[in-house]
Amino acid sequence: MKVLVINCGSSSLKYQLIDSDTEEVLAVGLCERIGIDGRFKYKPEGGEELVIESAMPTHKEAIKVVLDALAHEEYGVIKSLSEIKAVGHRVVHGGEKFASSVIINDEVMKAIEECNDLAPLHNPANLIGINACSAIMPGVVQVAVFDTAFHQTMPRKAYIYGIPYGYYEKYKIRRYGFHGTSHSYVSKETAKFLGLDINNSKIIVCHLGNGASISAVLNGESIDTSMGLTPLEGLVMGTRCGDIDPAIMEFIAKKENLDINQIMHILNKESGVEGLSAVSSDFRDLTAAAEEGNERAQIALEVFSYRVAKYIGAYVAAMNGVDAIAFTAGIGENTHEVRTMACSYLGYLGITLDEKENMRRKENVVISTPDSKVKVCIIPTNEELAICRETVALIK
Ligand code: ADP
Repeated sequence: MKVLVINCGSSSLKYQLIDSDTEEVLAVGLCERIGIDGRFKYKPEGGEELVIESAMPTHKEAIKVVLDALAHEEYGVIKSLSEIKAVGHRVVHGGEKFASSVIINDEVMKAIEECNDLAPLHNPANLIGINACSAIMPGVVQVAVFDTAFHQTMPRKAYIYGIPYGYYEKYKIRRYGFHGTSHSYVSKETAKFLGLDINNSKIIVCHLGNGASISAVLNGESIDTSMGLTPLEGLVMGTRCGDIDPAIMEFIAKKENLDINQIMHILNKESGVEGLSAVSSDFRDLTAAAEEGNERAQIALEVFSYRVAKYIGAYVAAMNGVDAIAFTAGIGENTHEVRTMACSYLGYLGITLDEKENMRRKENVVISTPDSKVKVCIIPTNEELAICRETVALIK
């Protein structure tokens, strides 16, 4: 079955067409600058990438451009649009309403809309993408796969903040967690790869990308994760601060005469390893700069890795043990320095890294030594494939 996977932002739309039987990606691309002018990128499997300037006043035109390319006589990958049997949408926030993926209908659309408050930048854009698909592909089943759903198994003690309880009751202010599709996929792949019984396992997933989060997956269920009400909590990230003393906000606001929007901008966009290093949010630049003796880049790497190690320690406590630790996403998969630095704190768990394996670039690899008490591995994430699998599972 051919499934179109869509990740819709306010002015962009990423897509992949996947054959769910072979799990082969038939085409992949991106619509950018929707509502501005419009640029379309399209890469068919084994072919050259095309970049086409194409007017996209709204997401409807963007979907139309995608479908036209997929079924194009010359560079298309399907003969007819009727081959697309389902669309899987990434939806950022499902609040407490969605603990799993769902087939989209009017009621679901309303419930997603009710979560807009919790993700005002993302959910409305996701809804626009769903509406655009409904208009252009009427009758094709659409599925919503939520970033938050996997973490809905967190126990109350893990998701309630230490603030007046009324804010939870009135506004649903609590920890939700994100990257759930990735944490779910990677924890399952880790168990499969290591031959663990997922129903009897303790796995820590370190999703370290530009946005980064860690989760504790006990017997296949998320019982804690580092992001909170929003993706700002937890690890130090590319440009996000992660956990800080909330009083810092008032302190900076007074000293620099800033309002709450400006403070939030600093914490979301000007902090993290970029704010620390003044070099970059990209770990390729950071490791190169640190290698050349840039002290601020070195500080950023140390702070980032130390925070990763602290969360791993916290989640070992939460699960009373750990069988495996999986590194994934851009940094987790590629930046060996971070894996080395983070694991250097984990000797007390009987973890030793095999530095030769750690330096190798290979998919699904164990990087701990054979006698290490806990298996440490690199398991590449694949959120689009996970969305495709969820979609197929629901409609079959
Ligand atoms: P996101 O999906 O949150 O944008 P990614 O998972 O794509 O993030 O991770 C992007 C980050 O991965 C980059 O900012 C960079 O720091 C890091 N990275 C390090 N090495 C590589 C590499 N070889 N390829 C891609 N990303 C890399």
